Amino acid sequence: MKILVINSGSSSIKYQLLDMDTESVMVTGLVERIGEAQGSLVNKTFPGTDKQTVTELDQPIPNHSEGLRLSIELICGGDNAVCSIKDIDAVGHRVVAGGEKFCAPVMVKDDMWPDLKETERLAPLHNPANLGGAKDAMELFPDVPHVLVFDTAFHSTIPPHAFMYALPYECYEKDNIRRYGAHGTSHKFVAGECARLIGKPAEETNIITIHLGNGASMAAVENGKCVDTSMGLTPLEGLVMGTRSGDIDPAVHNYLAVNRGMSIADIDTMLNKESGLKGLCGMNDMRDIHAAIEKGDKHAELALGVQTYRNRKYVSSYMGVLGRVDAIVFTAGIGENDAIVRQKSLEGLENFGVKIDEEVNNQRAKAPLKISADDSLVEIWVIPTNEELAIARETKSIVE
Ligand code: AMP
Repeated sequence: MKILVINSGSSSIKYQLLDMDTESVMVTGLVERIGEAQGSLVNKTFPGTDKQTVTELDQPIPNHSEGLRLSIELICGGDNAVCSIKDIDAVGHRVVAGGEKFCAPVMVKDDMWPDLKETERLAPLHNPANLGGAKDAMELFPDVPHVLVFDTAFHSTIPPHAFMYALPYECYEKDNIRRYGAHGTSHKFVAGECARLIGKPAEETNIITIHLGNGASMAAVENGKCVDTSMGLTPLEGLVMGTRSGDIDPAVHNYLAVNRGMSIADIDTMLNKESGLKGLCGMNDMRDIHAAIEKGDKHAELALGVQTYRNRKYVSSYMGVLGRVDAIVFTAGIGENDAIVRQKSLEGLENFGVKIDEEVNNQRAKAPLKISADDSLVEIWVIPTNEELAIARETKSIVE
């Protein structure tokens, strides 16, 4: 079975074609700067193998529909075609927010669109693009099933005491304000992989999963089910991210409005785009931050300290939430690559049974790696996330 996985952003489309009989990647692609004067498309067939070919297009790409059409033309036509359009059995789409209605992946049916439209207000930066991309793809592939895989779905098992904000109850009832989380596909994937690697059934395993990329979130997984996560109504809450503040005193909004005369929209932009690591030190790439620390940049050092301290606070609170922890998993760009962040995020937790093996932690690996010391009571793992494969697996199971 061949499954095309599509992640439509506001001005980009990421895609992968997977052969699900072997779970191998046949094509990856990235369309960028859609709607701008000059767009780009990079299509790689059989990436990482000796059959790899790369095609790059630089041309105006007026809309998502055209971006997708050009991608399909490269996948299924020309010299480097890997299959015919008829060979694609299903399409899986990443959707950021599912709200309370969409707690599991669904095969798209016509009568779902009004409910899907409702989810857009929960993720106004992402869902309109995700769902618009699905509509475009359905026009290009009218005869195959299209499955929506929601980033919030894995968090739908979080109990009310963890997802409710202590606001007037009508904020939940009328406005659907509650914590939904995000990155669920990644948390579910690495939690599942971790259970397999430590050799226990997922339903008997308690895991803390830490997704540290440009966006960052943590999840407490009890007996295979998510019981808490750090992101909230939107992906702004929780950990310190590349450009997002994570947790702050909610009174900061009022303070900035009164004292600086900022509008709500300006404050929202500041918290989402100008804060986090970038706000503290002017850089949001952890590699640049380490390089700056080497040169004695105090702001960079502070940014690293603030981020890793927040991580440690969340890890220890989730240890309290779970009571017993089998494993802690690091994943995503920083989590998979940055030994210093991993070490500092778990520093001082030795008395709770969390002990890193520094030597192993410093090794670079593309495959899962256990980095806990032999006498650590909690296993610590680095597990590469693979959201496309996770979406393809969900799509396959729905289609079958
Ligand atoms: P992601 O959002 O998962 O793609 O992660 C992107 C982030 O990962 C970048 O902004 C960097 O901060 C970080 N990153 C990527 N590679 C490395 C690396 N080798 N060492 C440290 N951080 C890295």
